[in-house]
Amino acid sequence: MKQSPLRQSGMQKEDIFKQFKAMKSKDAVWQTGRMFGLIYEAGEDVEALVKEAQAEFTIANGLNPMAFPSLLRMENEVVATVISLTGGDSETVGSVTTGGTESIFMALKAARDWSRTKKPAVSQPEVVIPVTAHPAWNKAAHYLNLKVVTVPVDKNFRADVPATEAAMNDNTIVIGATAVTYPHGIMDPIAELGELALKHEVWLHVDACLGGLILPFLKKGGTHVPAYGFDVPGVSSVSADIHKYAYTPKGISVVMYRDASLRQYQFFIYTDWPGGVYATPAMSGGRSGGLIAAAWAVFHYLGEDGFVRLATQAKQATDNLRAGIQAIPELTVLGDPAATVFAIASSKINIFELGARMNDRGWHIETQHLPPSLHMTVSPVHAKIVDQFLSDLKAVVPEIPPVNAETLSEQAALYAMIGTLPDRKLAHEMVLQFVNDIYCLKDR
Ligand SMILES: *Cc1c(COP(=O)(O)O)cnc(C)c1O
Repeated sequence: MKQSPLRQSGMQKEDIFKQFKAMKSKDAVWQTGRMFGLIYEAGEDVEALVKEAQAEFTIANGLNPMAFPSLLRMENEVVATVISLTGGDSETVGSVTTGGTESIFMALKAARDWSRTKKPAVSQPEVVIPVTAHPAWNKAAHYLNLKVVTVPVDKNFRADVPATEAAMNDNTIVIGATAVTYPHGIMDPIAELGELALKHEVWLHVDACLGGLILPFLKKGGTHVPAYGFDVPGVSSVSADIHKYAYTPKGISVVMYRDASLRQYQFFIYTDWPGGVYATPAMSGGRSGGLIAAAWAVFHYLGEDGFVRLATQAKQATDNLRAGIQAIPELTVLGDPAATVFAIASSKINIFELGARMNDRGWHIETQHLPPSLHMTVSPVHAKIVDQFLSDLKAVVPEIPPVNAETLSEQAALYAMIGTLPDRKLAHEMVLQFVNDIYCLKDR
């Protein structure tokens, strides 16, 4: 790896920011609603608010709540607000984490340790999830030494309840559901999975990382939203990301449990350290107070009315985009998405090529496979680009080669190849090589 030794003498602040500006010039542009995914944008006022709130507490350390009671208070209030939006009651408890990945990790860790007490006969604990569940489940299971059993979804991309039941056995400790799924924006049949959890006495974790901070407001705005939280019997835990549809910077999510008897398995406590009694609710040790303050600020700034207004705006943009896409004969939307996330597919044209050519026109659309599709996460900011997006789509679609054409752009061809490689081990090797390669300093 190329070396980058620390400079001998320091730089001027202005020069540092000049360099930032130069480096950022190649980044994806998200402020104008040209990006779908990664960034959740509610507008300039919310953005300015969260940055200022974060700055106010960014140096404070959430590790010791006795030293920073402000952070403890805001953290508990933020968690309690999300609980109230998730069908929780006075028994429901939760924790702040650094993101959806950590929230799912903590829920699975709690479930695993719960099972050690409650299901001592289990030798190798297993987790049963739909194939559409986020890879954070697989990652957590990998770290926690849990076996993952993935179950195909039905033709509408929803978790298949009979197939889930068939995949369960005496070692199953957790089943999973998503509200709503990242790939296709689908709401799994959570009431039925709750019944399954009660019948077999297993833990049901609902991953509402994506939907948790928009579904309650879509419902208040009049959209039909089935119950997915603690109002569903059989749900043990729920995760909801604040850094998605609550528009804060990345690094904050909430994981919630039906009661404290379940959450206790999440905590880590060590009492024999010369440095003092050590106890943390989740994975992190030291953590900046900035994101907790940003979350607290956004909840108070928007209130229910503001969240409903923004959710309605994003939903309106979603409905208009979907209607325009369905009107193009070559394109289709997969399944029946419940909120503001959906996927575009085609049985007639090469969808990866469509994505590449839309990106050439200044959009930023992520590609997905199994089956091939384009990912659309819609934010309130997208209300202003609906017409432009649809008119670009209408212009580009007639130029796209058919599904299996060989004349694909480099980007489209590479993605199509990795998705269809029959040897999944080889696909893994290729991605490993890629990751290894990009995380090395090279000449600029
Ligand atoms: C984003 C997301 C996650 C993972 O969250 P991170 O914040 O990226 O760690 C998990 N599940 C779903 C459904 C998501 O959309």
